[in-house]
Amino acid sequence: MTEAYDAVDVIVTKRDGGALSDAQIDWVVDAYTRGAVADYQMASLAMAIVQRGMTMRETARWTRAMINTGERLDFSGLSRPTADKHSTGGVGDKITLPLAPLVASCGLAIPQLSGRGLGHTGGTLDKLESIPGWQADRTTAQMISQLEDVGAVICAAGSGLAPADKKLYALRDVTGTVESIPLIASSIMSKKIAEGTGVLVLDVKVGSGAFMKDLAGARDLARTMVALGSDAGVVTSALLTDMSTPLGRAVGNALEVAESVEVLAGGGPADVVELTLALAREMLDRAGLTGKDPAAALQDGTAMDAWRAMISAQGGDPGAPLPKARHSQDVTAPSDGVVSRMDALGVGVAAWRLGAGRARKEDEVQKGAGIYLHKQLGETVKAGEPIMTLYSDDEPRFARAHAALGEACGGAGAIAIDAEAPGRAIILDRVSSA
Ligand code: URA
Repeated sequence: MTEAYDAVDVIVTKRDGGALSDAQIDWVVDAYTRGAVADYQMASLAMAIVQRGMTMRETARWTRAMINTGERLDFSGLSRPTADKHSTGGVGDKITLPLAPLVASCGLAIPQLSGRGLGHTGGTLDKLESIPGWQADRTTAQMISQLEDVGAVICAAGSGLAPADKKLYALRDVTGTVESIPLIASSIMSKKIAEGTGVLVLDVKVGSGAFMKDLAGARDLARTMVALGSDAGVVTSALLTDMSTPLGRAVGNALEVAESVEVLAGGGPADVVELTLALAREMLDRAGLTGKDPAAALQDGTAMDAWRAMISAQGGDPGAPLPKARHSQDVTAPSDGVVSRMDALGVGVAAWRLGAGRARKEDEVQKGAGIYLHKQLGETVKAGEPIMTLYSDDEPRFARAHAALGEACGGAGAIAIDAEAPGRAIILDRVSSA
């Protein structure tokens, strides 16, 4: 087949700071997916984009070109409005687990296509797979019938949605080209737009445990994604939320499922409850369903009923005991005081080294591994009291986890105890097109 463009010309245009035409973008994304543009050429173009950026017109076209390489799901025949939430990823971020059944119990349908974790941030599917029997794979027909019956389905994104992104994301991961707002925004939004949801609420994380370390960058990413969603006809808004310290007390797959069930039972850590309710209200509000109070649904058992139905519909046993790690070790406080630092990245890397996350796509995660924080930021502690418990199936991993905690924050360590602690706001800002 004769190609419409030469990859080198496209790379050179971007390298020299030019804007790519719509036709160049359509071609290069499609040709890369077909294999007519080589990995090394796309890696070079991705690096030029990291350095030179893309205009909003180029980013929107790039997103559309990636969507056009695959299928689009259509949930418009459902009797309930559809809404989805996407988080840019963080440490202890289990919010999808209580949120999906909660908003389903308030009348929305939630088609939540999720992924597995890579690096120090966990994946929703890894967490749910710690529930005995639970299956991540659903056909589109199974998704539609579960959305009608239960209102929520969390399942693996098939390879049919935006295959260009799947290939490009794997390439970016190994070529130092992840950190680019146009590339991150188009990657996330191509999958979300192809998924066919009516409402999308983005949880853009800010802080040491997130992609975006500062508020200005996170706001830029949020604005770009909201504009891409709105242009494609998806009602999109974003909350910018804190990820400088872990969310909740549990970090690790089965540990996070247990904490999510506590929230659905009307308890759980205050920060997890606050963020779950804020995202639930944003989803319900944007979908025009303002009649039901999500806080009441956590207290009266309706959200828990929806959780049980959602887990059972995918073969899981919501009453079965969760897997536990074979070994545990406490980290104790060296002095009296309040926890003035509990660094998200340090705790995330330590949990990953304990076996909660994977270093390569093919690795298995340990279901019971992770960290339980007896003390969160701002809580009082006495010398010798446990601050956290580390869990793993392999004893040699403890030393590596302790090292990660010690090396965090430029060697100052992930944990600090002081006379007082800095305040913490969970919701930092909101971005919406309307
Ligand atoms: N998540 C994605 O899906 N893509 C990115 O580029 C970054 C995070």
